[in-house]
Amino acid sequence: MTDTSPNLARLGDAARDFIARGRGLFIDGEWRQRDAQIEVFDPATAKRVTSVPRGNAADVDLAVAAARRAFDEGPWAKMTPADRGKLVWRLGDLVERHADELAELEAIDNGKPVTDARWGDVAFSHELLRYMAGWSTKLTGETIPLSQPAPFHAYTLREPVGVCAQIVPWNFSFMMAIWKVAPALATGCTIVLKPAEQTPLTALRLAELVEEAGFPNGVFNVVTGLGEEAGAALAAHDDVDKVAFTGSTEVGKKILEAAKGNLKKVSLELGGKSPMILFADADLDVAIPAIASGIFYNMGQTCTAGSRLYVEDSIADAVHEALAEHAQGLRIGPGLDPATQIGPLVSAEQQAKVLGYIQSGVGDGARLLCGGRHHGDDGYFVEPTILADTAPHMAVVKEEIFGPVLVSATFADGDVASAVREANDSIYGLAASVFTQDIDKAHAVAKRIKAGTVGINTHHVIDPALPFGGFGQSGWGREMGWSAIELYTELKSIGVALKR
Ligand code: NAP
Ligand code: MG
Repeated sequence: MTDTSPNLARLGDAARDFIARGRGLFIDGEWRQRDAQIEVFDPATAKRVTSVPRGNAADVDLAVAAARRAFDEGPWAKMTPADRGKLVWRLGDLVERHADELAELEAIDNGKPVTDARWGDVAFSHELLRYMAGWSTKLTGETIPLSQPAPFHAYTLREPVGVCAQIVPWNFSFMMAIWKVAPALATGCTIVLKPAEQTPLTALRLAELVEEAGFPNGVFNVVTGLGEEAGAALAAHDDVDKVAFTGSTEVGKKILEAAKGNLKKVSLELGGKSPMILFADADLDVAIPAIASGIFYNMGQTCTAGSRLYVEDSIADAVHEALAEHAQGLRIGPGLDPATQIGPLVSAEQQAKVLGYIQSGVGDGARLLCGGRHHGDDGYFVEPTILADTAPHMAVVKEEIFGPVLVSATFADGDVASAVREANDSIYGLAASVFTQDIDKAHAVAKRIKAGTVGINTHHVIDPALPFGGFGQSGWGREMGWSAIELYTELKSIGVALKR
């Protein structure tokens, strides 16, 4: 288990050099080493890549104090919006310049296909940085005409919320960090970022790029460490003004509890069990690949994964056959092979959890259409899997599996109401999709679905300008677009007494 992963040899020079630099915690513009370390493994081989510091509560105190100083006193506080926007744009340029390296680091750390990392995670990230850079100069308040005969002239100011704790998961580690970092920087906040323990590498590379871009010390800090140590200390910290979290609903509730002490602002992007409704009048040439990508992209380790399929009875057999054929054609391999479409899951724990769910589904009476097993002798691979004939009470239908497992059920021909009812039967409400060529039905169903994002004839709908977030237990708040700016700012109302 402690051998070095042979996949290190597949990395380009830049990624290998980064790992060789052995970065520590990034606090107040300095790299700090710690004796306590967390091992980083390559999920494709279960062998070691490197280690990073296991930051603790004392490290969190240092990082929060640095972020506080930078927010209150440093050059950052006095910087013009235009200069701040230029820095954020420059960071976007640097991410793009080092995109191949970042994608390779993500692939060896998380296991995901390097091609997806390059053209999904990293490309989206530099575009989001540039999109958010534009808001820096547009953080306007309003002049408000008062409703009562009061002798005031009144207006609002929009100000940065302050020191932000940002806690991110391992499924899109770099991109989730950028989703939070970009609007926080654009609005003039300061940051302490805690990446997931399984995937700390790209957050540390990001810190190098922040340094290179020229952000003042203390504006961006990274504390690698464990959720229950560094993460919990951050969420509970009295000098943190806001905590932004992406991860499981279970931990989201802990964040909320921890944030209570000083009533810091909280935004949460949590789990999902997103439905896809397929009507018999859909164009299957469009629907089949979209549904397959809806569930299998990133090995299903996607908060918006389309993990429940509801298909109209008359086409169910043909659809199942086509989906199974598609799934079996996906190329499984190490993330660092550019031809790989399905990489390993992130960890042995995740692999065991997903295989356990497949067994439980079959035990509950679901019919295995394809996949169902681990793949290969090394690493944490699971075959793309489809379970048909599932029923609402099954754990595989109710719970977030977070793996390449699609559960499918049918609805009677023409029974739109029951399709919508089943789709909405979930504690979650992150995403959904509907496949039909009937424009009236498409919009009517989209309106009735309880989810933050609904795709019509596509599943993953995502753009830097489009609000993203969940209904129900999928979270609080919306990232991206102007909504993200609102998450990172406070509104202040000012009234000026007027002489009569
Ligand atoms: P998680 O525990 O929710 O991890 C998310 C982040 O929160 C990580 O940085 C984690 O640190 C940190 N964290 C954990 N406990 C914390 C605490 N008490 N206080 C503050 N921060 C804390 O998710 P996970 O354990 O990696 O995965 C568990 C399950 O969550 C998965 O199987 C999946 O079902 C779901 N999940 C969902 C999403 C999503 O986007 N919806 C993302 C990831 C996972 P550590 O890395 O040290 O734990
Ligand atoms: Mg790893």
